[in-house]
Amino acid sequence: MTNSTLYLVGAGPGDIGLVTLRAMELIKKADCIIYDGLVNPALLEYAPAETELIRVGKRIGKNPVTQEQINEIILAKAKQYKIILRLKGGDPCMFGMAAQEVELCTQARIPFEIVPGITAAMAAACYSGIFLTDRSHSSQVTFATGHESPGKAQSSLDFENLAKSRGTLVFYMGIGNLEKIVLNLIACGKNAQTPAAVVENATRQNQRIVQTTLSMLREKCESEKIKPPAIIIIGESAANPDSYNWFMNKPLFGKKIAITRDAAGNNVLENKLRKFGAEIIRYNSIEIIDKCQNDLAQEILGRINDFNWMIFTSANAIRFVFSALSKLKKDARVFCASRIACIGSESAKCLETYGLTADFVPTKYTSSDLVDQLSGEYDLIGKSILLLRSKIAPDVLPKSLNSLGALVSDIDAYNVVASNEESGHLEESLLRSELDWITFTSASCVTSVVNSVGVDVMKKNSAKIASIGPITSLRLKEFGICADIEAKEHTIDGLVEVISKF
Ligand code: SAH
Repeated sequence: MTNSTLYLVGAGPGDIGLVTLRAMELIKKADCIIYDGLVNPALLEYAPAETELIRVGKRIGKNPVTQEQINEIILAKAKQYKIILRLKGGDPCMFGMAAQEVELCTQARIPFEIVPGITAAMAAACYSGIFLTDRSHSSQVTFATGHESPGKAQSSLDFENLAKSRGTLVFYMGIGNLEKIVLNLIACGKNAQTPAAVVENATRQNQRIVQTTLSMLREKCESEKIKPPAIIIIGESAANPDSYNWFMNKPLFGKKIAITRDAAGNNVLENKLRKFGAEIIRYNSIEIIDKCQNDLAQEILGRINDFNWMIFTSANAIRFVFSALSKLKKDARVFCASRIACIGSESAKCLETYGLTADFVPTKYTSSDLVDQLSGEYDLIGKSILLLRSKIAPDVLPKSLNSLGALVSDIDAYNVVASNEESGHLEESLLRSELDWITFTSASCVTSVVNSVGVDVMKKNSAKIASIGPITSLRLKEFGICADIEAKEHTIDGLVEVISKF
């Protein structure tokens, strides 16, 4: 008996939202994760940095690691680590060689646990609006493998009974054997006109579906060049109407969109675009560096309650200011004597997370609207105003406030610098004209992307360009690039809205 435990864990079908809480809990504390090729690599990002990650991808055709080798890895890692995850696509026990690994554990006296996952058949059905059971025409489901162990003399699939079944038939790993499956079923009496569907890459942004009849299935899959991983569903529900296919009918489904903000900003934008079904190419073009820890900022933050007005032009500034305040053992009460203006709804929302409501947000989210509307509503003469902004922000805002008689202090709450990240992936997607959209959420992102991929690549590709607002569009123009659309409301939500409605 060893000190370690092997967890056989289902990683679900692809969409990382479809893993269990238990799976996520184990991923977050695993010492070692031995994972299959079908596991979405994005899940591994939740593992601690020191976790050893071992890929044992073994897709049919390119069979690099045998089960014997996987067993050896498990035995070796059980000597080394406490928490070992054997992470498998879908459900670990559904055509997942779980039996062999459980047998190994019992023999080697390695304690084990099994965490179920959403299996591909159920995911493919749900994400295409096909019902595996339906009280009007299918009261049973059969899961079968279309690929049997090489070397097996006779198929263990009972095609006679499969053909007789009045319920839904589902085949895993069947694409390579599609012809054999179809011919056997028809030869054993299955009606050739039975509706049949194949769902490729179920739950992923590149999901595809073929819907036809059993007799036409192979031909149609060949003409559509359907490849594994794919699930074959045979039964009345396979003919369900396209209007049931909620996933592929999302407004941005099938669209490839490049996002080019800083890492944290890209997380937010990626989540929002994914909700609309988009496939994301991510490039962290800039880095945002906290400047609130420098001496000047510390000095001003120390007497922040001397100011009549505080103006925040982004959520970044708010986060850095509050983190600096907390280091000074201060909190939101330092703002009790001052009013707060935010340039847009996103900064106002961010402020609310610290328990504060903005006194003023202009109806249009630009610096000039802020100044015009604020000075229209409040007397700013002789008022002390603290601007908490980016080091590279243009000086129109302090200048126009000064010219209205306000006493302005402008603090660099943060700096924006080009990131060191390689842009090769983005550049290739642009060069291959694979992208439907490239998005820009600030002038700095534009400069960084253009400097990394080159202005020619930006000009000579088919991707449409979406800009968050006039300053970003202007920077594009300075490089001779024209934005195809500009967000009406200059926020991330506004940008996502114009793209999804385009
Ligand atoms: N344990 C897995 C199945 C492993 S067998 C599960 O429970 O899902 C591998 C087969 O699963 C593939 O050949 C394919 O038929 C199916 N499969 C896995 N992921 C899939 C996906 N995202 N879309 C369609 N089929 C998938």
